Amino acid sequence: MPSALETLVKILKLERQQGCKDNAVIGGLSAFSENWVNQARPQSRRPEQHVLVDELADLMRAYGAVESRIERQSIITYMLDRITGRAPMPERYADKLAAYQATMTAPTPPKTHAGPPTGDGEAAQTNPTAVHTQERQRDKRSKRGKERPRTSEADAAAPEPAREKPLRSEQKPQQAQPQQQNKPNKKQKQQQTAQQVPLTTEPQDSDNHDDGASEPTYEPSDTFVATFSGQLDIPTEPRLSRPPRRPRRRLSPEEAADIQRGLESPVTNVKGIGPQMAKSLERLGIQTLGDLLFYLPRRYDDYTRLTPINKLRPEIVTTVIGTVRRTEVVVGKNNRKDFVMDVDDGTALMTVRFFGQHYLVTQIRSGQQIVLSGKTSLFLGRVQMTNPQWEHLDSENLHTVGIVPVYGLTEGLSPRALRRLMKNTVEYWADRLPDYVPESVLDRADLADLGWTIKNLHFPQGQDHLRFARERFVFDQLLLMQMAILARRREWQAEPADPITVSDAFLEAFLEAAYPFPLTNAQRRAIEDIRRDIAQPRPMNRLLQGDVGSGKTAVAITAIAIALANRKQAALMSPTSILAEQHYRSIVRVLQNFPGEQKPVIALLTGALTLNERESIYRGIADGSIDVVVGTHALIQEGVTFKDLAIAIIDEQHRFGVQQRGALRGKGKNPHLLIMTATPIPRTLALTLHADLDLSVMDEMPPGRIPIRTRIIYPNEREERLYKFIEHQLNEGRQAFMVYPLVEASEKSEALAATEAYEDLKRVFHRHRVGLLHGRMSPAEKDKVMRDFSEHKFDVLVTTSVAEVGVDIPNASVIAIEGANRFGLAQLHQFRGRVGRGQHPSYCILIPDTSSPEAMERLKAVEEITNGFELAEKDWQMRGAGDLLGTMQSGRNGFQLAELMSPQLVETAQREARTLYEEDPLLERPEHQLLAQRVRQLYNPVMDVS
Ligand code: ADP
Ligand code: MG
Repeated sequence: MPSALETLVKILKLERQQGCKDNAVIGGLSAFSENWVNQARPQSRRPEQHVLVDELADLMRAYGAVESRIERQSIITYMLDRITGRAPMPERYADKLAAYQATMTAPTPPKTHAGPPTGDGEAAQTNPTAVHTQERQRDKRSKRGKERPRTSEADAAAPEPAREKPLRSEQKPQQAQPQQQNKPNKKQKQQQTAQQVPLTTEPQDSDNHDDGASEPTYEPSDTFVATFSGQLDIPTEPRLSRPPRRPRRRLSPEEAADIQRGLESPVTNVKGIGPQMAKSLERLGIQTLGDLLFYLPRRYDDYTRLTPINKLRPEIVTTVIGTVRRTEVVVGKNNRKDFVMDVDDGTALMTVRFFGQHYLVTQIRSGQQIVLSGKTSLFLGRVQMTNPQWEHLDSENLHTVGIVPVYGLTEGLSPRALRRLMKNTVEYWADRLPDYVPESVLDRADLADLGWTIKNLHFPQGQDHLRFARERFVFDQLLLMQMAILARRREWQAEPADPITVSDAFLEAFLEAAYPFPLTNAQRRAIEDIRRDIAQPRPMNRLLQGDVGSGKTAVAITAIAIALANRKQAALMSPTSILAEQHYRSIVRVLQNFPGEQKPVIALLTGALTLNERESIYRGIADGSIDVVVGTHALIQEGVTFKDLAIAIIDEQHRFGVQQRGALRGKGKNPHLLIMTATPIPRTLALTLHADLDLSVMDEMPPGRIPIRTRIIYPNEREERLYKFIEHQLNEGRQAFMVYPLVEASEKSEALAATEAYEDLKRVFHRHRVGLLHGRMSPAEKDKVMRDFSEHKFDVLVTTSVAEVGVDIPNASVIAIEGANRFGLAQLHQFRGRVGRGQHPSYCILIPDTSSPEAMERLKAVEEITNGFELAEKDWQMRGAGDLLGTMQSGRNGFQLAELMSPQLVETAQREARTLYEEDPLLERPEHQLLAQRVRQLYNPVMDVS
């Protein structure tokens, strides 16, 4: 049962939300007050609470007569402030307080205590509607109150006085209390404050938040709980300027272990979860209580805006509050029994229908007050609601009032059931959760504590609350991931590697002989980075990040040459056999010019080899007669063992996971590792996601490139401009890519879209040959298509996002991207890199399927910015890290709320991770135990985090 105060808080908030028209309850606050007092009185234990009830009742009675809306609003605010202890008791109630104190400290309370005495009705003098009641009450009081001995001092058992808080500007006491005549003098004011009881859910925390208006709402005070036995978790002030933090409770090891056991216990331990529900939850990946707590809503519906029925329009999602006027069960089509009711909110009547839910007739009765949330529709010319979320006004309105979480569901689990379950679980556990992030970190990063975060991730008290909670959550993911990655780096670097050096003279001679062009400065810097790394007795672990066409291959081959100069082996692994072949050819070509008599032996190892060929290569790798192997996953198969692998290189890093990296590394005696990627992610993000790698960025293109021209065209120009232009290019002997977007997040539908487009385009370009490539093809099929395209066996390639990876088709001069707005900027840039690889002027054409300003702004950025890194930064600023992470395919799927990963937050997490790592690399200190545990819990044993 909610307490009377809780109910009142809800009503007052509704009243305010509805514009202070005195229509939050039928008949207005004045009519409501009497009932309310009857409910509130028995729940009041302390004199201060009785006074509060009196004062609130007085204000309610007077409310309807106040004409100014502004004044009404300030009365509401004032009442809420009084309820939560923000505003002190006004002086004019001091007499009443004394009277209550006198009564209640009496040795034996009267047996027939029909209700404690109330005040002397001073307030009622300006309040015509209340005179009657007031008189009666005054009568009673004069009979009883005077007989009691007066103990006018504040009662000894009174709880700690509330801190006095500055009043907000709109909350001027004179305005809020129209009856008040005199300002209390300073001394009186202090007295009041001392007498005031914190009937509050506000934190009495010592932290100095910037102003009183934005105090975080927090722990229910003991007094309140003891008195009203309800949990009042309604914020009095939905704004929050800073994330709140509760002083941390030190847990004994036993307590901590207890809690840990609780979190790891199966969900069936929760009251209300039977085996059936547990099964449903398991389908959502929820097995333990901990899983449940961290199962976040997919989205939130903000129901804070209420609409009076006479203002309802069809097809809007809204909340309505009113009284049930009529209920019936109507037998509809197929013998379906619907529950139908009329709801009246004082402005009009609305019909509500619940399909097939006839049983509601036992739950919803005429005369009850009800809250409904849902979408309106038009039925026979009238606005109605069907199957809304509903709740009795005075139950805890967690489904319909405020910001409501919407969880991903599964069969056998209704939204209501899951929400209720979450509410109970969160309520019980959130405050018990030990925070695994050290306090010092939260201090520096200015983040909320874990308990508060969990509460507000599930049941946000306001939009600010949600923002802070999500910030903390995203921070945690970044921090934990980095701690895991750093631990991996340490583990791996603990094993020594063979240092490799090479003379300047050799290097210059090699570069001179190998390449017909001078290296760019960026290439030279990258080579120097590598030289420095491999000269160390611990393994290199370097990420070479460079835009498509920046010349990473030249850097890789130079690293291979350095291994060869030391009479050691090198390996290069690519994600597809066609890329492996391409690399193989470049390496053979370049290493023909390797200085010295003996030319290195180079092998290509892919899945396409016969058993004999493969066996022979295995032998060559093992006995050292093969110096360099280029290959696919075949490189990390069982049979491959190197004689002396010194340098391992992985191209297109995002196609491989950490495990493959580890496997390749395992082929040698801790070789030096170079990873190459063309995914232009911003530096800060790269340093976070690849905290175990050192980073070399090649931000400079070889000279003489013809920039790719990028243009946006509109769907209605497709025939006239796009197809004609492509036809023209094809007639010139060029080739074209046509990319189709991910309409829904499934490979299947993506493939479907491309397949349909393929059929269309075959007709459009009937004079040319059209091919198709999509993600549902087998690797062998894909390879064949790419190969045919590169051999110009057809002219147009219709494809999906699989076209990202870098196969060179120098003859391709156009890439057209349909639904371009659906891709991330970095991804568009990757696509663009498919063309412009030969001597032909090349074009990238973006066709959005929306003209929203936001989409256009993003596409214009692609038009204007040719540098992939700049574009990635821009993308990050505009959309968070979601798209950027999406372009990196392995191991990232675990990230939640990636769109909220702002540059600042990533930087903060990075800084904190490094600080922690420097202070306590093994996380051995007592205050880091929980953190270490959480990292292990999330990242062991797989650790595939980047
Ligand atoms: P990516 O970084 O995309 O792997 P590549 O290594 O394939 O780039 O190089 C793209 C093209 O640029 C190749 O044809 C290569 O020969 C050429 N190239 C590389 N470095 C230079 C340079 N310093 N000057 C001129 N051309 C270069
Ligand atoms: Mg490349």
